[in-house]
Amino acid sequence: MKNLPILLPLTFFSFLAFVSITAKLSAQTAYTPSQTYFGTNSYIEYIAGNLPLIISAAHGGDLSPAALPTRNCAACVTVSDANTQELVRAMGESFRKVFGCFPHLIINRLHRRKLDANREIGEAALGNAQAEKAWSEFHQFIDSAKQSVLRQFGRGLYLDMHGHGHDNQRLELGYLLRDDELRLPDDSLNTARYIGFSSVRNLAQISRQIFTHAQLLRGDAALGTMLALRGFPSVPSKQSPFPLANEDYFDGGYNTARHSSYRGGAIDGVQIECNMDGVRDSPQSLRRFSDSIALSLRDFMQLHYRISLPNTCLATSTAIYPLQSANIEIAGLEIFPQPIAHEGFVRIPHQGTQDIIIQIFTVMGSLVQQSVHHSTQSADSFTVIPFSTNALPNGVYMLTVRSRFPDAGNTALGSRLLADYFRTALVLITH
Ligand SMILES: [Zn+2]
Repeated sequence: MKNLPILLPLTFFSFLAFVSITAKLSAQTAYTPSQTYFGTNSYIEYIAGNLPLIISAAHGGDLSPAALPTRNCAACVTVSDANTQELVRAMGESFRKVFGCFPHLIINRLHRRKLDANREIGEAALGNAQAEKAWSEFHQFIDSAKQSVLRQFGRGLYLDMHGHGHDNQRLELGYLLRDDELRLPDDSLNTARYIGFSSVRNLAQISRQIFTHAQLLRGDAALGTMLALRGFPSVPSKQSPFPLANEDYFDGGYNTARHSSYRGGAIDGVQIECNMDGVRDSPQSLRRFSDSIALSLRDFMQLHYRISLPNTCLATSTAIYPLQSANIEIAGLEIFPQPIAHEGFVRIPHQGTQDIIIQIFTVMGSLVQQSVHHSTQSADSFTVIPFSTNALPNGVYMLTVRSRFPDAGNTALGSRLLADYFRTALVLITH
């Protein structure tokens, strides 16, 4: 007993040392892409990835364990974002199906009544130790994913997925700029002051030779514009550059500020608040939206970060889009280089004698160039077709590839799309 006062501190410090070693070890754990990891009590789930994309669902949880108190502060929002957990899982599945790769997914499985994973810890957990633990694990998993992305790619994008209940059925993309700031002219948004407020601050700095900050938010190559082109109206975007003064709009929350380049670093961030109709209202909508955002992010990462998602997970540069879905007709289609200076190339699987039609449209849909190439029998498995871009001003364009088989007649049905999935890609032309 006499030794107790000495032993106790020793034991306590040994325990602390053990905790710190354990923490260090777990921080160094190599997570395996596509494998699932859980935090304490499985409240937080992390599905490790190998793409430069980190996607979280903070408000899509449905667990309400009695062990955790119900959040009851006056300002607390406790309504969950319906089907957003399912949405990020569907997004993971779309990337796997289309590219054979995995984004990093972090899911708060607790209902918002128990934990708000998009608030600072005080409002998030209201002082409950277990809720605080879950909150910390949610952010630790995001931090590990960011480190992994930075190690592998040196830059990347974080998406915090939510669901809004506003009447206007469109996606609200939050870059930490308020609605009144988005209503400013481009020249103002392009100043250091507003770039400094932005969750794509790093991207605005690295890409300013080609795209201004305002163009990243609502130009031809903005994420909102790409999503709108695929049938998902978005604000901000070229089609809808800012919310009007009387319109509801979420500009980005705690997670976007904490995990994006707003706080420095080379991971940019966007909060995507999804409307219900056609996005979250059925498994079919979730799939359709997930496929569309995967393709939009393919274009976005290629144009802005110069990272080819399709090539990311492949051992050799000769392999191309590893499609695994039965309803897609071709195994690969590639357009290179990106950006295109004077001559681009389309590479497609060789399918015998056929006409290949390459069309280039402006982002708003006007046809500006078309060429038809006749391909004959060949032993090669791929056909590479050059196309000139000399006549086109610098900018972002949509490129469409179609295949027409001479023996199929000249009917609409005879001219079948090479691959519905990949019939259109955005390309950047800069001479
Ligand atoms: Zn939310």
